[in-house]
Amino acid sequence: MKERVVYRHLKRVNGEEIDIVIEDGIIAEITGAGQARGDREWDGTDLYVSSGWIDMHVHAFPEFDPYGDEIDEIGVKQGVTTIVDAGSCGADRIGDLVASGKRAETNLLAFLNISRIGLKRIDELSELAWIDRELLKAALADYRDSIVGLKARISQSVVRENGVTPLRISRELSLETGMPLMVHIGSAPPDIREVIPLLQRKDIITHYLNGKANNLFDEAGEPLPVLTEAIGRGVHLDVGHGTASFSFRVAEAAKRQGIHPDTISTDIYRGNRLNGPVYSMANVLSKFLYLGYPLEEVIAAVTTRAAQWLGREELGRIQVGDPAHLTLFAVKEEPVELVDSEGERRVSNRRIEAKGVIVHGKFIECKVRA
Ligand SMILES: [Zn+2]
Repeated sequence: MKERVVYRHLKRVNGEEIDIVIEDGIIAEITGAGQARGDREWDGTDLYVSSGWIDMHVHAFPEFDPYGDEIDEIGVKQGVTTIVDAGSCGADRIGDLVASGKRAETNLLAFLNISRIGLKRIDELSELAWIDRELLKAALADYRDSIVGLKARISQSVVRENGVTPLRISRELSLETGMPLMVHIGSAPPDIREVIPLLQRKDIITHYLNGKANNLFDEAGEPLPVLTEAIGRGVHLDVGHGTASFSFRVAEAAKRQGIHPDTISTDIYRGNRLNGPVYSMANVLSKFLYLGYPLEEVIAAVTTRAAQWLGREELGRIQVGDPAHLTLFAVKEEPVELVDSEGERRVSNRRIEAKGVIVHGKFIECKVRA
């Protein structure tokens, strides 16, 4: 007989209280709170449940410094059951990244860096010879199940003298392979007004709330026309908080202008996890609660909306018959000081705390700074 474990009295973000029965890693039954029967019980009173959080921008290749970390440290231990590595590796090392993903508890997907060397160096697009079209296509063919798009970091320190040329090549590769682009934006050159027009439907702008001089909003906090046009074309907006790419000032302007994130991601790696300003997915989510986004919206940005973009709807739902990948979290009504990438601070009266995840039929406790 398989053991039936009842996770009892869990609250969904819409307020509904439920019990979830898990049998052999599969969701066997969902009932009203207090109604399910099982062999073992786990009391979830005061906790929320959602499908497992998805972080669309992380750096999960520990060998690379500074932008690297251990998969489960930035995955399940953060309440995140699926991470999407944002181009840590290009064709040279993607095989190693995918292999280490298979050994982890966290589900790993990846954007393939268009530079074959990936983040082995942090100016990976400063030599156009590092964009090797044949190697890239071979990597896509070999790791089709894990690669969800192509990554190009288009900012001064990465492209050096090359301007938008690496992005033009990325666009061609995207058309040839059918893979959408995730484009990192940052300091000029290239000017942001040259970068954004090259993006198409389904492409992702990551770091869209950065506070650098070359950002997507003008002095008055109005969105640049290239941004509103891109949204009109169906370009996807991703947070990618990171060490240098999330500004409260810009995020507040974006909120006032109704320019909401499609997905909330961390751009987490060892340094900004241990020393801030990222710390954890929960910490980043708390910043969006502070900004005034409702809890349902905040959680949708790391569940249903990410799953939809990935074309893996099952990752964003809680449904009988599906493998259980769930995140359990608390919303604490207590003051917390939050810091952005500019060192600006805000005091919020609510924060999200990841308590644990359920993956592969077991509960894994989270122990991170919320
Ligand atoms: Zn990144």
